[in-house]
Amino acid sequence: MSNTESQSLTPPTLHDQHGRWPRAESVEDFQRNLAAVHERIAAACQRAGRDPAGVCLLPVSKTVDEERIRMSYAAGCRLLGENKVQEAYRKWNAMADLADLRWSVIGHLQTNKAKLVARFAAEFQALDSLRVAEALERRLQAEGRVLDVFVQVNTSGESSKYGLPPEEVAAFLQSLRAFSALRVRGFMTLALLSADAARVRQCFVRLRELRDRLRQEAPDGIILDELSMGMSGDYEIAIEEGATIVRVGQAIYGARSTPDAHYWPTVAEEEEPRS
Ligand SMILES: *Cc1c(COP(=O)(O)O)cnc(C)c1O
Repeated sequence: MSNTESQSLTPPTLHDQHGRWPRAESVEDFQRNLAAVHERIAAACQRAGRDPAGVCLLPVSKTVDEERIRMSYAAGCRLLGENKVQEAYRKWNAMADLADLRWSVIGHLQTNKAKLVARFAAEFQALDSLRVAEALERRLQAEGRVLDVFVQVNTSGESSKYGLPPEEVAAFLQSLRAFSALRVRGFMTLALLSADAARVRQCFVRLRELRDRLRQEAPDGIILDELSMGMSGDYEIAIEEGATIVRVGQAIYGARSTPDAHYWPTVAEEEEPRS
């Protein structure tokens, strides 16, 4: 096909997702994909002089149906990331028999859905407003639960992307001290969706530098150990820049047909909507 020909001339862009990641349809497929990702994680760690034990792989199962999620569980996945709360809650209910399967909500949250997150989630990675923090705290107190949270930072400067601007994070951390049910673990970011690796890397550098700076002045009880950054198209760069958690969906489950614009407000101009 002419498609193949042009691909051999032009290397695939970082976020050229379709055709790169075949769909996993069996436990063996998942084992193979997971092994491949772990191998790349190890290689990136080696390049950066890091211990692979310091990088946690968070498989992202959004849009994936129950049958295939169960296969990924059989292949070893125990913590799964979901962008949309209702989808995650539905899956949590359906797979309650898998007692050690835990759920991480990694997408923007509206206050009226805080109730659901407080009920079932093990962690929430997209905290970027006091209103959401207040809603979560109230609901968590009612449930008698605590929640690990990550502050989402907008490192790409795209105005309509979720996340706090870096300069507002220090004050936000101070305000979070009031919420005893929220355990701050670190920061999360989405890099620029771009084929330009240098600009993608810059987003990760920005998050790490912010973390390093704020860690020294962090309020008591707020521990900024974790950097959740990197997805299927850019996790190796993120690891080179210090990621402790990489959120990887398509490289494990296979390419999604839902465009990324469904999950966050903008896609950069380099990203064509795909059919
Ligand atoms: C979907 C998603 C990911 C994973 O993206 P892939 O391209 O599937 O690896 C990571 N983080 C967030 C916030 C997501 O919504």
